[in-house]
Amino acid sequence: MKINSSEYAVSAVREDQYPKDDLPEIALAGRSNVGKSSLINTLVNRKNLARTSSQPGKTQTLNFYLVNKSFYLVDVPGYGYAKVSQKKRQEFGEMIQDYLETRANLKGLIILVDSRHVPSKDDQSMYEYAQYLNLPILVVCTKIDKLKKSQLTKVKANLKKVFDLSYDNVSVLTFSSVTKTHVTELGDWIQEKIAE
Ligand code: GDP
Repeated sequence: MKINSSEYAVSAVREDQYPKDDLPEIALAGRSNVGKSSLINTLVNRKNLARTSSQPGKTQTLNFYLVNKSFYLVDVPGYGYAKVSQKKRQEFGEMIQDYLETRANLKGLIILVDSRHVPSKDDQSMYEYAQYLNLPILVVCTKIDKLKKSQLTKVKANLKKVFDLSYDNVSVLTFSSVTKTHVTELGDWIQEKIAE
């Protein structure tokens, strides 16, 4: 997919704030610090479209980025942020659930996990939940540049400990924002889903 334009469109915490122009949407979810902002910036070839920060959990809204004037990337707040209160976590959860369950424009969910670790309980919940909603899923294993060659074979084994990859409509990619590994494949997956 060739990216010709990208812009921040809107932030939303409830339905009446979502974009109203009826374009397809691809959501991105993952634990804080997993590399989600970096992946968005790498995909659209911009340094700072999505904020990358050393303060995990800061983004507490759904952020919509309009790409090629034809679809939205939707940055879902990072989950599993220990420093927010139970009440805040519940509010996040409800906001994310409302969006994922009701949004007809949503064509797929990208779940980011860190290549170096076995996915967390939160990652597993998100994966199972997306399955239950029948959403096409792309699991992206981030920061692959940090792995030694000998560790690469472990990535899929780690995923399989937590995710049932035999479901329909699940794809897996390794990715790096540093080396841009598989950025083309990432774009291709998005292209395919927004066309469906
Ligand atoms: P977010 O909280 O999920 O949006 O994560 P960020 O994109 O802000 O990244 C968190 C940290 O990981 C930052 O210090 C990034 O520079 C670093 N990071 C993100 N992606 C990569 C990657 O592919 N490779 C390496 N080595 N570091 C990365």
